[in-house]
Amino acid sequence: MIKEIDVKRIEDAVARLCVSANKILPQSVTDSICTACKTETDGLGREIMCDLVRNIDAAKELDIPVCQDTGMAVVFIEIGQDVHLVGGSLCDAVNRGVAKGYTDGLLRKSVVADPLNRINTDDNTPAVLHTKVVDGDCVKVTVAPKGFGSENMSKVKMLTPAAGRDGVVKAVLDIVREAGSNPCPPMVIGVGIGGDFEQVAYLSKKALCRDLGTHNKNEFYAELETELLEKVNELGIGPQGFGGKTTALGLNIEYAPTHIAGLPVAVNIGCHVTRHKSEIIK
Ligand code: SF4
Repeated sequence: MIKEIDVKRIEDAVARLCVSANKILPQSVTDSICTACKTETDGLGREIMCDLVRNIDAAKELDIPVCQDTGMAVVFIEIGQDVHLVGGSLCDAVNRGVAKGYTDGLLRKSVVADPLNRINTDDNTPAVLHTKVVDGDCVKVTVAPKGFGSENMSKVKMLTPAAGRDGVVKAVLDIVREAGSNPCPPMVIGVGIGGDFEQVAYLSKKALCRDLGTHNKNEFYAELETELLEKVNELGIGPQGFGGKTTALGLNIEYAPTHIAGLPVAVNIGCHVTRHKSEIIK
């Protein structure tokens, strides 16, 4: 049976999520920052972690965003195949929601209409919109505002199959080492492996939306997540780049089938303000 869902409900959800994602971090990110505030062994690093905890608390108390860079609105929408969207264009509804959320929520507008002429659109639209048709009769809306201090340090590398697992480990460590203090560490690291050039970048962004402390369901990739996180934290970049063992709070991998001649790897770096929030519309 087909269920009708009005796109106005998606617009309202996007507006709410833009505001709440910017003001309240995912619980797993907050928990991880609080834990590192106790476990970081470097004195300066520990002080910085405690400052980050104070910043999260202050944002909650004052009802303001956790960071001044409230990001570009990345929106993932999963549409059940038994849903018929009514009430107009989905894309227009998402952008109306972003404009409303960023304007009413007094969030910084960071989007320019053209990458070279750079005129601000003044309402943070358009969103980067990813849609996927899935089973069921619901719509899942996720908003992941992305700051560009961390986005700018992200990279895609097209390895050859001969590079194998070791080549992937090296590529990830090289990218994180090169990022250094720029992405406001401690980082959250999204790794995409496989697919093609554009899919691997998408996978790395999706990986940032998985809660910290969860693992890839595939045991091989779950082990690789653990190994890579340990190795990243051995780099010694530390909180805000001042040294210490808390370079990353988490590292998630998403993978996909790929071509016999390739081994694409993408690293999407998130900062300590890695945000995402979801609602399910039934
Ligand atoms: S990288 Fe993250 S913490 Fe740093 S300014 Fe951007 S959004 Fe804020």
